[in-house]
Amino acid sequence: MRRVNTKARNTSVKGLDYGGILALKALLVIDMLKGFIREQEKPIIPKIAKLIQAFREAKLPVIYICDSHLPGDKEFELWGPHALRGSPEAEVVDELKPAEGDYMVYKRRYTGFFATDLDLLLRELGVDEVVVCGIYTEYCVKHTVADAFFHNYKVTVVKDCISSYEEQFQEFMIDYMSKAYGAKIESLEKVISSLKI
Ligand SMILES: [Zn+2]
Repeated sequence: MRRVNTKARNTSVKGLDYGGILALKALLVIDMLKGFIREQEKPIIPKIAKLIQAFREAKLPVIYICDSHLPGDKEFELWGPHALRGSPEAEVVDELKPAEGDYMVYKRRYTGFFATDLDLLLRELGVDEVVVCGIYTEYCVKHTVADAFFHNYKVTVVKDCISSYEEQFQEFMIDYMSKAYGAKIESLEKVISSLKI
């Protein structure tokens, strides 16, 4: 028996619905932070805004996964300081501001699963499929998709709502995520229409 959890979006982290066996999609919005958005990322912002709206309207969970580093974080050896916890650079861009009922997951590495409570949150919400958007395709998107697959979640990547740090990786990584992790690669329009069924 499977049922769709229609209550999930109205519950807070304190009051998750543990009951039943649930089949629920969640949207993962990865690293759409003020410090990360360059000219090439700007076109995906309004598209992700539509995606977020569609999930909220469908009463499905929207989960923001955000880089949030401590001073002197080990990752800075490779990238230099970025997304320092509490700084304006580590805030979600104004156009995609989290709303009441959305969830926040803060990470210190590329993947949203490592040393965070993302898996626990998804399991408590009864999620079995994650829909992924955000940046950057070949880093935090790719590694979060990999970990979602390793944790047995179905994955859909919204191909027009992701952007690579280096553009030449975009098509390669989309193909790779499809082959390596069985990710469904879908357009924004198709994902939105699938929520309305
Ligand atoms: Zn980082």
